[in-house]
Amino acid sequence: MLKTLQIKLLPNDAQREALIDTFVQFNGACNFVSGIAFERRLFNKVFLQRIVYRDIRERFGLASQLAVRVIAKVVETYKTDKTVFHEFRDYGSIVYDPRIMSFKGLDQVSINTVHGRIRIPITIGKYGKIPFQRIRGQCDLIRKNKIFYIMVAIDVPDEPAIKPKDIIGVDMGIENIAVDSTGKYYSGDDIREVRERNADLRDRLQYVGTKSAKKHLKKLSGKESRFARNTNHTILKEIVQKARGTSSAIAIEDLSGIRKRTTVRKGNRYIHNSWAFYQLRLFIEYKAREAGIPVIVVDPHNTSRECPECHTIDRGNRPERSKFKCISCGLEGEADFIASLNIRNRAAVNQPIVTGAIFDHSILPVASSKALARSC
Ligand SMILES: [Zn+2]
Repeated sequence: MLKTLQIKLLPNDAQREALIDTFVQFNGACNFVSGIAFERRLFNKVFLQRIVYRDIRERFGLASQLAVRVIAKVVETYKTDKTVFHEFRDYGSIVYDPRIMSFKGLDQVSINTVHGRIRIPITIGKYGKIPFQRIRGQCDLIRKNKIFYIMVAIDVPDEPAIKPKDIIGVDMGIENIAVDSTGKYYSGDDIREVRERNADLRDRLQYVGTKSAKKHLKKLSGKESRFARNTNHTILKEIVQKARGTSSAIAIEDLSGIRKRTTVRKGNRYIHNSWAFYQLRLFIEYKAREAGIPVIVVDPHNTSRECPECHTIDRGNRPERSKFKCISCGLEGEADFIASLNIRNRAAVNQPIVTGAIFDHSILPVASSKALARSC
């Protein structure tokens, strides 16, 4: 599977200037070409190149490869919409190929700029080393929060698939970001607190509506999403490690089902509707597959109303928003946990992954867990 490696550049002042100038010239050239393309209704790479190539080289001081990239970038954006003029930001990304960028050992990159070719120190942080033999295709040079990065696509071999002996059902719930069928609760409190704390401020900024208020607002949402992302990563890591450690598949609900259920299960709506919630689900699917863990997607209908033991489905099984109590057998528990058991059960019934212990239905559900109790 392809993965993106983010390599940070550590330029000195002169090198930073050279990078900034290159970005400005490159995107300036994009705007120049975009104007001609739009005016003359000319969106073909070959024809466009005949007209603008020399100008790009001379007026913007770009190397031949970068000039070609400018044209390619402009043509690409007009593929989606030819009805409006496309404008490019000063720091729009630049695509580099090996002819104009190459790594020099582990700590330097040689890169073409409008001030010639320069060598800039790099750091790859936690990745340890660059798997050069796995680099696929071109690299993007980007600028994010005033820091320059090279984004490299690398081909990462998937881990060998496990043969699941069990299934862990994961419910993304109301009170908790996630609950799994082993009874582990992953709290969303941190995310919720940050959001609530920022809600007032956001309202005020929206009301003010000035340019600086908008800027502040953007910063705020960036901070929030980074925080949610970190929380999601922590949860994800734990779930995937548990699945791998216990040779279990992971069962989750169908994504469309999650949407549907937001109308059924009310409360904490912003968690349901926020992308943090969808992100976790995508993370689980992606990371689990990468780690060789099968992911089973199940029908989400009534997972929060069905009794995991006697399978009675009834609205009455939910006396309270976060509580489950079966009207026919009396099984009681936290609603989210019950849902995770149902998700696990459905996966076990529906999905013959491998033969073996996985079909031993007698082990389902885990009725001894702390969240379950019998009232009668
Ligand atoms: Zn029951």
